[in-house]
Amino acid sequence: MDDVIVIGAGPGGATAARRLAESGLQVRLLEKAAIPRVKPCGGALTDRALAWLPPDYSAVLQTHPYQWTCQAARLPPVTLTRPEPYCHIVDRPEFDAWLTRHAETAGAVVLTEHPVTGLKEEPDGVGVMTSRGPFQARYVIAADGGQGPSRRLLGLPRPRMGAALEVEVPVSPTFYDRFRDRVEIHFTEIPWGYAWVIPRSPILNVGVGSFRAEGLALKKMLDTFMTAIFGDLPPARTVRAHPLPYRHRWVPPIKGRVLWVGDAAGLMDPFSAEGIYSALVSGHLAADAIVRHLQSHVPLTHYDQLLRHTLGPSWKAASGMARIFYPLTAFWAPFFLENQLLLEDYLGIATQRTDYDTLRRHALAILWQNRVHIRR
Ligand SMILES: Cc1cc2nc3c(=O)[nH]c(=O)nc-3n(C[C@H](O)[C@H](O)[C@H](O)COP(=O)(O)OP(=O)(O)OC[C@H]3O[C@@H](n4cnc5c(N)ncnc54)[C@H](O)[C@@H]3O)c2cc1C
Repeated sequence: MDDVIVIGAGPGGATAARRLAESGLQVRLLEKAAIPRVKPCGGALTDRALAWLPPDYSAVLQTHPYQWTCQAARLPPVTLTRPEPYCHIVDRPEFDAWLTRHAETAGAVVLTEHPVTGLKEEPDGVGVMTSRGPFQARYVIAADGGQGPSRRLLGLPRPRMGAALEVEVPVSPTFYDRFRDRVEIHFTEIPWGYAWVIPRSPILNVGVGSFRAEGLALKKMLDTFMTAIFGDLPPARTVRAHPLPYRHRWVPPIKGRVLWVGDAAGLMDPFSAEGIYSALVSGHLAADAIVRHLQSHVPLTHYDQLLRHTLGPSWKAASGMARIFYPLTAFWAPFFLENQLLLEDYLGIATQRTDYDTLRRHALAILWQNRVHIRR
């Protein structure tokens, strides 16, 4: 019997496996796909995410955009430029493979092409069925992302599901230069979401995502957006779709001996859809909770407290911001683009100059002032 089985070798699972192996535990990481595997993702890492990576991360950061263009219908676009990068772009297959190599080097046994098909809670452990045979561990960390089966297998409801579509577009060096060092976001065309262009030399990652995608013609919205960016639809490219799992209500990510992390727990930022950061943090904290439980008998439920303490305040403020922003994007557009007060706040979150509480406080003050104004 292993000490811990980790399901899924994304940022959450690979990080948890590395931490557990570094603590001397016997860890098995089961991944459905062959590695490197494709994961639809812009690959934008904020500074707050970098702090949770192994120290040699600079080799996997491909571009460092320090400009941010924001556009909303009928208003001229605004580009903000900073001396330091707003974020750092990784190639997800390469980034996730790098994290998995770190787990393996630390001592985790990594089994790829081992899809988990069943989970069974047992008196002193958890039975884990895969298409290649059964395994058993004292504890399980479920990091199987937005499409994984772990919650269903244990009879738990899934998080709410948004959806995103992305395309990787190879462009000429001259066209790439227009987006070099610059992320572009359009936020009024997609209900409860936004469209983006992210430069990852030599390609552009272009996509649309919505937290409320049901019934939305997302593919048509992607085509419209691409036509606006490229002047025409680029030649046929693979369009990849993936869910955006999120929550507006905190649900403890633990049941018995199973701890959920990252997208499988619905921990994505419910305003920006940044999910790599929360996957890294929760992977660390789930591993630490198991180590403390084994070493000092601290209850496993301590994981929930650690997570609430670390991610909770920012997640809660992001959730509040989403609920006042997305139903009223046309109202907010001038406050983000003409006054730029809120845009500066929002971009300050990426570079840790400010936080969601500040953004939400300023947004609520604007809402209040305008209500007063309207009443008069
Ligand atoms: C289009 C798009 C763009 C995005 N852009 C960004 C961005 O720019 N920045 C950002 O921070 N976030 C972004 N996100 C969110 C981010 O990609 C996720 O939040 C992040 O990948 C979550 O990491 P994870 O480790 O929880 O899950 P994942 O990265 O999804 O990893 C889950 C792993 O589990 C494996 N798995 C699934 N089922 C099984 C099974 N049965 N058995 C074994 N293994 C299994 C999968 O193969 C996968 O490797 C984006 C999301 C989308 C959809």
